[in-house]
Amino acid sequence: MNRYDAVIIGTGQAGPSLAGRLAGSGMEVAVIERKLFGGTCVNTGCIPTKTLIASAHAAHLARRAADFGVVVESVTVDMKRTKARKDYVSALSRDGLEAWLGNMKKCTVYRGHARFESAHEVRVGTELLAADRIFINVGARASIPPVPGLDKVPYLTNSSMMEIDFLPRHLLIVGGGYIGIEFAQMYRRFGSKVTIVEMAPRLMQREDEDVSQGVREILEAEDIEVRVGAQCLAVETQGNDIKINVDCPDNPAESVGSHLLVATGRRPNTDDLGLEKAGVPMDKRGFITVDDELRTSIPGIWALGDCNGRGAFTHTSYNDYEIVAANLLDGDKRRVSDRILAYALYTDPPLGRAGVTETEARASGRPVLIAKRPMTQVGRAVEKGETQGFMKVIVDGETKQILGAAILGTGGDEVIHSLLDVMYAKAPYTVVERAVHIHPTVSELIPTMLEELKPL
Ligand SMILES: Cc1cc2nc3c(=O)[nH]c(=O)nc-3n(C[C@H](O)[C@H](O)[C@H](O)COP(=O)(O)OP(=O)(O)OC[C@H]3O[C@@H](n4cnc5c(N)ncnc54)[C@H](O)[C@@H]3O)c2cc1C
Repeated sequence: MNRYDAVIIGTGQAGPSLAGRLAGSGMEVAVIERKLFGGTCVNTGCIPTKTLIASAHAAHLARRAADFGVVVESVTVDMKRTKARKDYVSALSRDGLEAWLGNMKKCTVYRGHARFESAHEVRVGTELLAADRIFINVGARASIPPVPGLDKVPYLTNSSMMEIDFLPRHLLIVGGGYIGIEFAQMYRRFGSKVTIVEMAPRLMQREDEDVSQGVREILEAEDIEVRVGAQCLAVETQGNDIKINVDCPDNPAESVGSHLLVATGRRPNTDDLGLEKAGVPMDKRGFITVDDELRTSIPGIWALGDCNGRGAFTHTSYNDYEIVAANLLDGDKRRVSDRILAYALYTDPPLGRAGVTETEARASGRPVLIAKRPMTQVGRAVEKGETQGFMKVIVDGETKQILGAAILGTGGDEVIHSLLDVMYAKAPYTVVERAVHIHPTVSELIPTMLEELKPL
């Protein structure tokens, strides 16, 4: 038996930084990783997809060169080189992390699959590790829906997509959520024909209808086929191709493509962790139940990142680390409920989102103000030739605090922070309304938009 002060399972976006803080405070720490250091974001999520999206953007801009008065004879995407670039960028992060943990004083790294033996013991292969503090940062993986025929056809997930170094002739994507949409635009720009099949009546159905519609228009403008409201999905092979039966309100009743990507959500990696031996409760979907400080109901066991169901992003996982470290080491009572929902969809142009949607604001019954501005009325967007989308902000009619915003347009992933920070400051919107922003930027029109607030 190897005794430690703390054991961390998984090297996602919370575990490694937590290891650094705990070891730095004098604790003996063990970190366990079963596969690739850095987890989803580094190897099969944010970093590789955003690197590939950068290649896709370059191809798109080259094809649009004439719009800017630039002559480009022809555009060819070398898929092997885009993959090599993606692999290089991922490896920078993965290798740096592995070396950092490997060289960390008071930290021992174990490679292998961890399983609880009891509330204070974890097994990795033949080794048994014991600790009074165990931190679970095991992340999530693609969830595969029970679509008839799916077990008989070859399909891709976000992980296996990372190995693709050729151009799929026609990529079928089941799932019109954030992951499916990012891959759709990326592969269309690489040169594939792309069809998205979504069972819900619209894309990204947790977003407001105008946001879903705006994203759909951006995709359709690039000849991506979007099929929503697909019921009774079934898949089968057709020669060398894959056929999806789509009982959609629109015709035809099927889509045939060369490759199939399943992007229908994520499930936590908690089913093979032996949590029952530690008595750690999970909800019906397998997410570990935690309190506002990310403690499970078993003393000495915490869950951080995607596996606790309290966030599904790199920044929320990293913030989980900050919350746990602050409470444990700094006597600083940080809590998950202090966090404001914020994320981006990395289409081009991107969607930056913060706080509540218009639909949620309406349902709250509170007096709410709203303002909206199309990107065609944003000088910087016009100058850049990127006028798709709009900006929208929602304000509490009584407190004057900003409740939420959606920036679907060029720079939206960055611009959203000018509103997010004011939301964290709990300051009234008038602070931004009176701020003098730099010209010409997209952010410069945020104060102008706020001058146009009207009751919802
Ligand atoms: C395609 C895609 C794109 C994304 N893009 C973005 C984005 O742009 N922005 C954003 O904020 N988020 C994005 N995400 C989400 C983001 O990747 C995750 O929210 C983030 O990685 C947080 O993960 P985590 O810390 O919970 O754990 P993970 O990063 O999933 O890491 C968990 C680690 O635990 C290890 N592990 C699991 N079980 C065990 C075990 N039993 N024993 C030992 N080790 C184990 C795994 O091997 C893994 O390394 C994306 C996700 C995907 C799939």
